[in-house]
Amino acid sequence: MLKCKDVPEQTDAYLAGELSFLKRLEFKLHTFICGPCRDYVKKLRLITEALPNLKGNKPCCDVDDNYIDDIISKANDEKH
Ligand SMILES: [Zn+2]
Repeated sequence: MLKCKDVPEQTDAYLAGELSFLKRLEFKLHTFICGPCRDYVKKLRLITEALPNLKGNKPCCDVDDNYIDDIISKANDEKH
């Protein structure tokens, strides 16, 4: 059974679709029953989805690295 401490290190692989079927199932089950981990994965997914867009839009919307750091540190603050 997946533990909370395993979730952060598996989230990247989960979001990238790199977990095996069984690990994916365990991961989903844990985030289903565990609210803080569910929130953590949700935030990380938002960041992951936002980052390529930020990079792509950089010349026109002038997003600097501090803004990205800010999003990431906010997500980390709210973790657990
Ligand atoms: Zn958990």
